[in-house]
Amino acid sequence: MSDKIEVMRELSDIIKELKRIKYYIEEKPRELEDKKQELKKIEDRIDEIDEEHEELKKDLAQIEMDLEENRLQLKKYNNQMLLVKKEKEYNALNNEIYYTKTKIENLNSQKKEKQIKIEENRKKFEELKNERNDLKEKLKEQEEKVNEKLEELKPKYDKLQKRKKELYKKFPQDIRNKLKGIENSEKYQNRIMAKVNKGMCGACKMNLPPQMVAEIRKGNKIYTCPYCGRLLFWEQK
Ligand SMILES: [Zn+2]
Repeated sequence: MSDKIEVMRELSDIIKELKRIKYYIEEKPRELEDKKQELKKIEDRIDEIDEEHEELKKDLAQIEMDLEENRLQLKKYNNQMLLVKKEKEYNALNNEIYYTKTKIENLNSQKKEKQIKIEENRKKFEELKNERNDLKEKLKEQEEKVNEKLEELKPKYDKLQKRKKELYKKFPQDIRNKLKGIENSEKYQNRIMAKVNKGMCGACKMNLPPQMVAEIRKGNKIYTCPYCGRLLFWEQK
């Protein structure tokens, strides 16, 4: 039985160590992946803003063209005005002039709007570019660290995983299942073993059935705590 306790101890240590390493093997790379996604989103947004900028520039060019056309038209009307003799013609021309002036005003305010949007767009573009560059730099640094740790710890991680599997095989199936539950749960805080103390489970402090305590003391069979599920062992004084 004492060698069984040894196996339990080794397994317990391995599980603890694996949890520690897992952070570097699984969680850190995942965090890095999330940040990469974040970077990708910023880059997409930059592309979008760039496209918007092209559209705005096209719109502005069109407005400038319309403005030019209407200004020429206004000049023409003003020249015609000098030659008008009849009142009816004068009124018609006056209406045209009024209409064209209103159009020019509208176009001018449209132009202003577009210019403001272009400026806002440019600012946002600069902001995002800075954000992207910062994030890119940070990511590069983090990626190096993550990879360094991976390289350092992956062989150890694999070796421990292999050893864990071997150790698991030394336990009967029902115990093995319970152990896996403990291993995957956070609530045990990596403490998979509990000493029997004064008839209680040393971890959860619940009273154990006396029959079970006696059996554990004899050391013929492995028992788990009916309350917290930990492996129970008897320590000879
Ligand atoms: Zn317990």
